[in-house]
Amino acid sequence: MILLTGNGYSFCGLASGIGVSEDTAFAVASETCATGYYSFGHEIGHLFGARHIITQDPTPTPFSYGHGYCNTTASTWRTVMAYNCPSNTGGNRIQQWSNPYVSLGEDPTGSIALEHNARVLNERAGAIANFRTQEDDFLLMIVPTIISASNKKQ
Ligand SMILES: [Zn+2]
Repeated sequence: MILLTGNGYSFCGLASGIGVSEDTAFAVASETCATGYYSFGHEIGHLFGARHIITQDPTPTPFSYGHGYCNTTASTWRTVMAYNCPSNTGGNRIQQWSNPYVSLGEDPTGSIALEHNARVLNERAGAIANFRTQEDDFLLMIVPTIISASNKKQ
């Protein structure tokens, strides 16, 4: 999994897909958004399979419960994957994945059916940790010439 950072982008972050394979596991996050706005985690979340809030992105795959969460109380906040919250909800993004079993004060940070990004991360962790673990998977590509390098021990 690769996440590139830099400056001068017209966006905070961009992931190659949602719930990616080892061949497409890359994303970009602007330095200005990567940590304080949690775009680093947000884009990595997309690669794992996490999505924005259900009203902004109702796609139920790869996980029907894989959406971010917008809090609706007076001290409103939103989880890492929450984007485009309805008006008067989802204030500042907090450093928390949606999770019905973790609360902020009295308020849960997600729901079992729709907003449980922590479950997505846990369920995908093993598969992602095993990306590129085969010796012959190591391939270094430099454009325009392709150079193949093996990571086999000498
Ligand atoms: Zn996003």
